[in-house]
Amino acid sequence: MKVGIIGSGIGALASAIELKHLGLEVHVFEANMQIGGKIVEQKLGEYRFDMGPSVFTEPHLLQDLLWRLDRAQEFPFHQLKESCRYFYNDGQQLQMPVGNAQVAQTFATHFGEDALKTKKYLDRIAQNYKAIYPVFIQISLHRVKHLLGKPLLIALSRLFKYGLHQTMHAANRQQFKNPKSAQILDRLATYNGSSPYLAPAMLNIIAQLELNEGPALPVGGMVQITKRPHELAFQHGVQFHTNERVTEILHHNKRVTGLQTQKASYSFDIVVSNMDIHYTYEQLLPTIKAPQFLLKQEKSSSAVVFYWGINKSFETLGVHNIFFAEDYKAEFKAIFETKTLYDDPTVYVHISSKVEKQDAPAGKENWFVMVNAPINIGQDWDHEIQLLRSRILEKLSKSLGTAIEPLIEVEQINEPRLIDARYSGKQGSIYGNASNNVFSAFLRHPNFSKQLKGLYFAGVTVHPGGGIPLAINSAKIVARCVKEDYPNLQK
Ligand SMILES: Cc1cc2nc3c(=O)[nH]c(=O)nc-3n(C[C@H](O)[C@H](O)[C@H](O)COP(=O)(O)OP(=O)(O)OC[C@H]3O[C@@H](n4cnc5c(N)ncnc54)[C@H](O)[C@@H]3O)c2cc1C
Repeated sequence: MKVGIIGSGIGALASAIELKHLGLEVHVFEANMQIGGKIVEQKLGEYRFDMGPSVFTEPHLLQDLLWRLDRAQEFPFHQLKESCRYFYNDGQQLQMPVGNAQVAQTFATHFGEDALKTKKYLDRIAQNYKAIYPVFIQISLHRVKHLLGKPLLIALSRLFKYGLHQTMHAANRQQFKNPKSAQILDRLATYNGSSPYLAPAMLNIIAQLELNEGPALPVGGMVQITKRPHELAFQHGVQFHTNERVTEILHHNKRVTGLQTQKASYSFDIVVSNMDIHYTYEQLLPTIKAPQFLLKQEKSSSAVVFYWGINKSFETLGVHNIFFAEDYKAEFKAIFETKTLYDDPTVYVHISSKVEKQDAPAGKENWFVMVNAPINIGQDWDHEIQLLRSRILEKLSKSLGTAIEPLIEVEQINEPRLIDARYSGKQGSIYGNASNNVFSAFLRHPNFSKQLKGLYFAGVTVHPGGGIPLAINSAKIVARCVKEDYPNLQK
């Protein structure tokens, strides 16, 4: 049997490996010249930048993926000892260590929280994570046989007890006396492009990965997350067609028959779309009725990123750094309600060269400077981005006590219009739908089509949701569904 995959993001590459493992002939079609979707790199002068994701958790998922085709493959990574450094407008700074006990102690020292109470809260989050993960992340919510069994009951009981009756922020604010403590957990809503003031409290489970397990950084940079699976899949016979945009999913009698690209027409028994689900229906399936209710859900946030080669090294900075907004609620209101760039934004600075020394010359650093942004609804981005740039420079210069602008040696900018144009993220959204309501987990598109046999979906715009680990899980779910739908496959 032959499989055609649309796109080459991590969800697509993981699908390619999973389906190759099942013995299928796999072809991957990528509209861009580079394989990897949003996980690609770029060299600017002497600096190397990862252009998309910078936060990487659950590295074992990458290892397991490589092992699917070759047990000798290793996926080396640095396990970071601190998750992030935090900077506040009032001058307070702190480094967040990894591990619930250490985090609780840090909250006690810097924010005056009760360490025991904090530890209990974080441990409960860990329990919620363990209960939720097997049901809401690892299987399809849209197939009864995936759901049957005790794990569902355990997950639902925790969901109803801790996850649905309040927002992330309400739960965190109730727990902590200092608003700065709540802000650190609230921030994790942005890991799937949502607002902590709207997203259900269950999303606090992200703290298990960020605060308790801690982030990792692949040896060789984030780009290895797509580079390694690409190389391995290629060695095992997956065929890659770059610079070849798919223009239509071909179908007949309610089953897929192939793909039409800008260059040719291909026959396939199975198609997996890694393209944003919204555009998959809009552009590739013009005669199929789209599930409008799912597609019309509020979109996740976008981002504006400045890639700066900085002619100095800053000891106060780590791999991940956050310079918080004073009024966090107002910032999310700007992103999701007024769809504007907030004037005192939370600024995230990622510096891979802190660990991967070859990413910048000695004594210099590669800064990936990002703010969360609204989706593109036709704002005057050129003007807004210039304004944002000066606000960021002012904020960072003040906080670090050094004028930053004169240190910038090379610069490139990414923004919502480019995210849409380069990676087909609807209106520049990064993760498809936001998780800004209680039922959001149930309002993502399934990993298979209910209308066309042989059509599947992987990536962050479908179930289970945003982020690299979830995209890999979406591919695993696709493989399980394919096995169920085609029981004669060899594995
Ligand atoms: C600035 C930024 C920062 C981010 N930070 C993080 C982070 O720290 N951690 C994290 O986990 N995630 C982060 N993300 C989100 C991250 O990009 C995703 O988690 C992940 O990379 C998305 O993978 P995906 O499989 O959904 O596909 P994508 O990476 O979205 O790839 C889809 C691919 O499909 C291709 N395509 C689309 N339409 C067609 C077509 N018709 N024909 C052929 N090809 C097509 C596109 O060109 C693209 O290459 C970030 C994203 C951005 C933009």
